[in-house]
Formats: sequence, C-alpha cells, structure tokens
Amino acid sequence: MSHKSTRIRYKHIAGKENIGADVLTRYPQIPEILELKQQFKQPSILQQFDNKLYKIVRQVVNVAMKYFIIYEDLLFSKDKKGKHRVMIPDIMVHQLVIETHENFGHMGTYKIYELLHGNYQFPNNMHRRTKKIIKLCNLCQRSKINNQLARGPMISNIPTEPRQTISVDLMEPLPKGQLGTKFILALLDIFSKHVKLYPLRRATMDIILKHILDDYLPQFGPVQRILTDNGT
Ligand SMILES: [Zn+2]
Repeated sequence: MSHKSTRIRYKHIAGKENIGADVLTRYPQIPEILELKQQFKQPSILQQFDNKLYKIVRQVVNVAMKYFIIYEDLLFSKDKKGKHRVMIPDIMVHQLVIETHENFGHMGTYKIYELLHGNYQFPNNMHRRTKKIIKLCNLCQRSKINNQLARGPMISNIPTEPRQTISVDLMEPLPKGQLGTKFILALLDIFSKHVKLYPLRRATMDIILKHILDDYLPQFGPVQRILTDNGT
C-alpha cells in the first residue's frame, strides 16, 4: 500500500516542550498566492506527501530524534539551541520564497533567508535554494539592466563614497502583479550600487517622496544628491 493513502496517527508530545502551535500564523504575511494559501491550510498532509519528510516522520513516530519533533501533527526541526522550525514540504518552497521576496521589497537572499529561517526549515540546503529562486526574479533582473543603462553619462560628478548620489528610477508599466504592483521604484546608490526597490500600486510624486523620506532615508541615512530621470 502506498504511504500516500495512509495517514499516520501521532502521539502528542508532552506539554513541557512547548513549540507554539501558532507558528504557522507567525508567517510574516498572510499568503496571497492562492495556491500557497491552500498549502498553508494543510501543512501536515503535505509533509506526508513529501518523500523526504515522510521518512523522517516515520522515524520520529517510532523513536525520539534529536533534531526533529512532531507537535500537533506537524513535523518540526529542532536545532542545538532548542529552536523549532516547521519543516516546509518541498512543494511549498518555491512559492514561499517568491512571495516573501516580493512582499518584502525584493530584498536579497540574505534577508529573505533570515526572515524565513525564523520559523521555517527547508528539507534541502535552505540558503542555496533561496538564493537560486531569488536569482530568477524577473523584476530584479530587469532592474539590474535598467540601472546599468541609466548609469554613467548623465552624471558629471562621479560619486566617491556611498550615500553621495542616489538615482531615482521608476520602472513602468509592469504587467499588473498579483499584489496589485504596477510600478517599481528603484533607488540606486551610484557609488555602492546598492539598490532598494519598492513595489508601487500608484506612482505619484507624493508617494515616491513618501518612500524616500519615510523609509529610505531613515534606513540608509542622509544622501547628498538625488538624481531623477530628468537630471534634477
Ligand atoms: Zn525580485
């Protein structure tokens, strides 16, 4: 009989090892991709459909394991410090990374990894998986090209340190994204090449200024010069 038709009965662990059943609700945002939303409703079933996780589940049910534990039907990893993370079935990995990357302003691998690793563990090399998936992001690739084109000739004073000159680019129109994103506001530090992207639904001067004043400057510090498309 295939294991896919059988559902394992778990014994519940003692209350002493409190993992927090709310770990799924601590997902940094409510999933917006419908498929991901569905998947989040039945993580324990998806874990059992995942060959690798299912093997671990079967072991944990029989013998207590050092680095895994089952709590309320869910398989968690357990690290040396006693931190528990939900084991994410392989089928959820791609969308989980993409959605988090998109919802958090297209942040890079390091931050997305840190964010996800707060509560989750992937069955295979989590950092490498995250990096690979983010590398494929269309918008990030496009903004790289865009910024390369925008760089150079229009700047007469070549900056010599970070936060001297920031260029402001608006990329549009994008095919309307799943989250209503239509524009990408890209703030590029000409010297360090650090890029901060903001997905926008609308792109008025007010909204752009608000992002610069309320988020970018407080986060990255004051800048000397801001370049816009028309060089002002
Ligand atoms: Zn991206």
